[in-house]
Order: sequence, then C-alpha cells, then structure tokens
Amino acid sequence: MAASMGMCLNARDAADCTKNEGICVRFIDNLRGKGVFANRDFKSNDTLFTENPLVCAQFLWNEFYRYTACEFCMRSMETAQDMARRLSANPSLVLPHPECCTLQSEKHTACPQCQVPYCSTECRDQAVAQYHQVLCVGQSPPDPEHPLVVLQETWKNMHYPPETASITIINKMIATVKQAQKKEHVLSAFNQFCQKANNEEQELAHKLLGSQFQEQIDTLQGMLAGALYEDCISQWFTPEGLRSLIALIGMNGQGVGTSSLSVYVHNCDALDLPGDERQALDSFIDQLYVDIERESGTFLNCEGSALYQLQSCCNHSCQPNAEIQFNDNNSTLTAVALRDITEGEEICICYLDECSRERSHHSRQKILRENYLFHCSCVKCLEQCDDADQTSSDEEEEEEDEETQDAVTEDGTVMDT
Ligand SMILES: [Zn+2]
Ligand SMILES: [Zn+2]
Ligand SMILES: [Zn+2]
Repeated sequence: MAASMGMCLNARDAADCTKNEGICVRFIDNLRGKGVFANRDFKSNDTLFTENPLVCAQFLWNEFYRYTACEFCMRSMETAQDMARRLSANPSLVLPHPECCTLQSEKHTACPQCQVPYCSTECRDQAVAQYHQVLCVGQSPPDPEHPLVVLQETWKNMHYPPETASITIINKMIATVKQAQKKEHVLSAFNQFCQKANNEEQELAHKLLGSQFQEQIDTLQGMLAGALYEDCISQWFTPEGLRSLIALIGMNGQGVGTSSLSVYVHNCDALDLPGDERQALDSFIDQLYVDIERESGTFLNCEGSALYQLQSCCNHSCQPNAEIQFNDNNSTLTAVALRDITEGEEICICYLDECSRERSHHSRQKILRENYLFHCSCVKCLEQCDDADQTSSDEEEEEEDEETQDAVTEDGTVMDT
C-alpha cells in the first residue's frame, strides 16, 4: 500500500526501473495515498510490471524443514525429483521427463564461512554487498551462542507454523542500512512504505503476533539491539519501533512461494505429447500430489515474505484488474493484467486470499480493516454496500464461527455461503 517508486538500492533494481515504463506511481489523495496507474493500454494476461524485492526472507521453520532456497532470491534449490521424493516421503521416486526440471544445480554455491546456500555467485555477491557482511554468523554449524542465532531460535519458539512473518526480514532491513554507503537513500526507500498512526501500528503488531507475544517483545527487542544496534536507526531498537517494523511488514509484505517441482509440473503441462502419453503423465502427476498431500499437507513451497516498492504501491480492490505471480522460481514478482486495462486506469490487486475474497461485503471489510487498517470502497464493495446495513449480531457470530473453521482447515475448501 501507498509507497512510491523511490530510489534504487542496487544495479539490478536500476535496470528494473526502465523496464516498467508502462506504469507510473501517482499520489491520489490523503485517504488512498499513492496508487499505480497504466501509462498505456494493456491486454488481458499482459505483464504490467516486474520487480525484485528490496529485501526478502524465507520463513525460519520453512528453512528448518529442509525447503532449500537461495538466501538472496529465494529460488527453490532442490531438483524437482528431490523435492518430490522429500514431500511424498518416497526416496526411490523417479520423475519422468527429467528435462522439465530446469534447475541449474551446477551454478549453486554457498557462503564460504556460514555455508548458507545461494543459487548463483551473482546472488551470493549481491547478498554480501547488501547485508550479508553484517548477518554472516561465520561458521557452519553456527555457534549456538551467536547473538543472531539466539535471536532466530527465540523467534522460532515464539512463532510456530503456519508462518506469516519472520524476524529475518527485519534483520535484513537493519543490515542493509548498516552496510549502506548512503544510509539516507536506503532509509528513504524503507520510509516510503505505508505507515500508520503509532497506536494503530501497535494494535496491528499485537494482532499479527498473537497475544502471548506482548510480554515477549521486550525480550526480542533486547536481543535485536544486542545483535545489530545502529545509531542512525536507534528508533527501530525500542519496543514501539519493533512493533512499527512488524506492522510495516504486515501491511506491505508480499508472501513469496517458490518450488522447482511446480516449475517442473508447469513445464510438463506444456509438453506436446501423444494422447496416451499425456494421459499417463497427467495421472502420474495427480497421484504424486495425492501422495504429497498425505505426507506434507499443504506445505508445498519454499515460503517467505518480501518488501517490494512498486507492488506495495498497488491499492486493493475486491474486484482487481491485476494479480501478482512468481514465474521464475524466485522472488522476482510479475504483475499480470486479469482483463484489458486502458491508459490512465488504476492498477489494483486483491490483498485477500482466495478464500476471503469470496466472503460477504461485511466480512471483507472486517478483514481489511483489521489487517490493513483501511475501509474498502471498490466497485464491488459499493455495489454491495446495502448488504452491510443488514448485518445483525447473529451474522457477525456466524462469521466468527466460519473464521474459526477456516483457521483449522487450511486447504481453502471452506468458503462462506
Ligand atoms: Zn538466488
Ligand atoms: Zn555467511
Ligand atoms: Zn472492496
């Protein structure tokens, strides 16, 4: 929400700025902040813009459970076959059409000190240039007493899966500032993310982190200061500052999911095969997903979250004209048109997950208000706004019940009727 194009943190982003000439960021009004607008006509399925994140980080439990991802770009680094074997708990599984796995394992490398994995020397060099000098724990396995290791373990023990945020993205923001030559440039990039009044942020942080976390924030803040304190961002190293950072990530962060297996399946779908071979391959893949669901549930991807300057400027609509995709098996984001878009039109994405976006007007407003601190007045909400007047306390209770149900099912099959 509501940031601006801002400056570029490195050469890779500088290249992006010129790639995205079809769109521009404009200030709308004080209520809506900034928005992204089309500079020309687009057809349905066209790419509107592509973007690399300022920072991205894999969730710590996801990493712990051996979802191997590049520490810089989050590329899934297992071969499709290794990933399928692990997720289906079948170590002798052999995938047909191995050419559909496009992973370039020969390019993989690691930090020579701490051994965190990188998909390429380019990613390793960019991580070292941006933040890894500060965040390298120096050896593998790391010293369990290292302040960053203690901080991450503490976080993990406070936040069990399913994960929605991670202390590592905060670590990377701080380390990026610490390593920057021109600190004010980096700070202005982070300051452009949507921020709200202090009391609202504090409430949001509490909601995002759960009630048991309220007592633990002091512990976490102390550890963070011990590991990474920096004078020019002293305001981040207070309990209120940490809550503000967590609220910033909650409101602006974009979930990232990568999987070399899903790239493989996508490539298999595109193969031109004779009818019987096509049928055999399709039923093989269907069975694979049944086996995976039995062993691993819905945790299929390398998962994390990231901060993007352009994507975070896209306002929400319950009837969006664009969606966010990850098509390169890494954190490079693509915004794609869901229908034809004409020059001058605002580009809107939907902040709600698939399940929540089918809910009633009242439910959607409630989720958006609690998680993003705004009232939606999109076309769909305006059309349905009379429904809100009929909301009774009975309906409210009903929706509360449904929310509880949703929380337990996780597979997104429960929708409100
Ligand atoms: Zn990478
Ligand atoms: Zn290292
Ligand atoms: Zn709406």
